[in-house]
Amino acid sequence: MPSFNRPLTSRLPLVGTTIFTVMSALANQHGAINLSQGFPDFDAPADLLALLDQHARAGHNQYAPMTGVPVLREAIAAKVQGLYGANYDVDTEITITAGATQALFTAVAALVHPGDEVIVFEPVYDSYAPSVELQGGKVVYATLSLPDYRPDWAQVAQLITPRTRMIIINTPHNPTGTVWTADDMAQLEALVKDTDILILSDEVYEHMVFDQARHESVLRYPGLAERSVVVSSFGKTYHITGWKVAYCLAPKELMAEFRKAHQFIVFTVHAPSQYALAEFMQKPGWYAQLKALYQGKRDIFRQALAGSKFELLPCQGTYFQCVKYGAISQEGDRAFVERLTREHGVAAIPVSAFYKDGTDLGVIRFCFAKSATTLQQALERLIKL
Ligand code: PMP
Ligand code: GLN
Repeated sequence: MPSFNRPLTSRLPLVGTTIFTVMSALANQHGAINLSQGFPDFDAPADLLALLDQHARAGHNQYAPMTGVPVLREAIAAKVQGLYGANYDVDTEITITAGATQALFTAVAALVHPGDEVIVFEPVYDSYAPSVELQGGKVVYATLSLPDYRPDWAQVAQLITPRTRMIIINTPHNPTGTVWTADDMAQLEALVKDTDILILSDEVYEHMVFDQARHESVLRYPGLAERSVVVSSFGKTYHITGWKVAYCLAPKELMAEFRKAHQFIVFTVHAPSQYALAEFMQKPGWYAQLKALYQGKRDIFRQALAGSKFELLPCQGTYFQCVKYGAISQEGDRAFVERLTREHGVAAIPVSAFYKDGTDLGVIRFCFAKSATTLQQALERLIKL
């Protein structure tokens, strides 16, 4: 094909292919165990798959309503009321999205104006900054520091200016597994009180919070919820990352703006999945079971690596475990994960990918959302290093 040879000015000059795609491809190329990109290697519950089939066969195959099917929005309203005591109107304050990525992108597209500043916490999930930059917003970076990656609220206070339009938060946090506390939420609430700053809260790992901690959803804090778009993803909660179904909640004035953009970004989301999820959400006990499942996998992973040369960093939530590898190698984290994949058959994510300037602190991220057999095989390889 002849190539287009006029100068093309990139809207995202510094962005390449996401590290998740790069590392999964490398894992496949070398037949390595893939602990890089975050997804389970076990299947979704059989009952959920049966419901998907049933709803597709029942004729739910045309456009769903733009905001999502009512039964699913009703199930979400009941969920957040039950778990967080939050009241969201089914018709005006809940929207089903094509994954959390689309919800986050849409929220930024709808609410951030050119020149607005948006504060994010670094290491930062890779989609946030490009979403802001595509809208002409300016990304401002707060720091989460090793070893526990807790927010520094004095620093955040200093970063706030009259141009700050939004703060994007993420607890439990990808990649570090840090879970924010009630005190963190109180500090955030105090900082934004009497400002017109909006919060975009990425809570896709809300059900993966371990030990005694509880998930501090923005939905528990009316002073935050009134100015927030809150995003969660069915992909994480029901082992269906490939379905790309998620949802967001916001007070109706914010949600009205969100929907103006949503209708032209995706319009509507895969209908049979929505009906299947609405029915499956009625099943009691799922969230407790999910927490126990992942806490068990985290414990197996940590116990095995405790006797290795990897240095374990804390993991209070998510399905990720970060480690330092300085006792094994002085290589940069990208070089190290590439060699780990090629020579030792285990793929991981270099945490430098979550820093704007590629800051490399010798930390890599493993995903432990894998079957017992996969984890055992991977751990056998890792403890030999
Ligand atoms: N936010 C975070 C923090 C994530 O880790 C992910 C994906 N793993 C997403 C958003 C995107 O979720 P989805 O696959 O539903 O688009
Ligand atoms: N969020 C997943 C992770 O952190 C990957 C999602 C993606 O591949 N975009 O690994």
